[in-house]
Amino acid sequence: MAPIEMEERHCPLCKGVSYPTEDAAVFVCGRCGSSARFDDQALMAMDIPRYHLRLEELARRERELVALIEAESRRGAVRDMASLRSLHEERQRVLSEYSFLTHFQQFIDRW
Ligand SMILES: [Zn+2]
Repeated sequence: MAPIEMEERHCPLCKGVSYPTEDAAVFVCGRCGSSARFDDQALMAMDIPRYHLRLEELARRERELVALIEAESRRGAVRDMASLRSLHEERQRVLSEYSFLTHFQQFIDRW
């Protein structure tokens, strides 16, 4: 008889260690709390806590940042370059998290 393996997987969202549940195909992440359903090695579906809220937050922040960048840029010669740079950097972080999260939409829809 083959020994029972304590199977461990990594969370598709944050790479944290995910643990098996009563449903053998479903693993829950110990770090972010996401649930992932697998078919063998293939990810089939996910439940990510606060998924839609986070997307809304990011979209709202992105609009705010665009407005702040435009307002600062309109100041022309007296614009604060350091502040503009940090606004642009934050906007890049917001956009990349948004884009990263939207890759999971298809799995969220299948949950
Ligand atoms: Zn996770």
